[in-house]
Amino acid sequence: MNPTRRDFLKASAIGGVGTAAASVLGFDLAPAYAQVRELKIARATETRSTCPYCSVSCGVIIYTLGDKAKNVTPQVVHVEGDPDHPINRGTLCPKGASLEQDILNPRRLVAPQVRRPGKTDWEPISWDAAIDEIGHWVKKTRDATFVEKDAQGKPANRCEGLAFIGGCTDTNEFNYLVVKTMRSLGVCYLENQARV
Ligand code: SF4
Repeated sequence: MNPTRRDFLKASAIGGVGTAAASVLGFDLAPAYAQVRELKIARATETRSTCPYCSVSCGVIIYTLGDKAKNVTPQVVHVEGDPDHPINRGTLCPKGASLEQDILNPRRLVAPQVRRPGKTDWEPISWDAAIDEIGHWVKKTRDATFVEKDAQGKPANRCEGLAFIGGCTDTNEFNYLVVKTMRSLGVCYLENQARV
């Protein structure tokens, strides 16, 4: 082997000086990189999930450290595309590839909040209180806005005071139930990403 200065600079531009030195001198670094990646996820638990960012719904694998003991908080250490997923076959767009940052972001909301009428700030609310309040306001709004007959006196039976919007991580089954529930309430402003 007789590497030239041009060979070295070309390899540096692609992979850094250390990589360049090794590859120009004839070492194959692929097994070393594979080993580093293997060490990172060696003791991790694999959980299959769906990217929450858009309706393409790419499959992801979330790697978590922690032995599931009660006093251990699981720690997400790596997220990558799921090679067995029929939609993306292991690939992720840049947004999906940054999913680990979304999961670990300290500003991520993990509990419900409510903004009271006339207020500008959101305040925390328990899950039980949130469900009670939603039930209360859905009933009150439906009672106040339900349209039994249209302008010509024909039966309408629709609720124009409520709307529902679903996100891309809602499953088809969840959306099916949402559509059934909302239609039974008479809600006609209904949208989700599953196109049910
Ligand atoms: S990885 Fe990208 S394309 Fe796939 S669901 Fe997420 S945002 Fe959409």
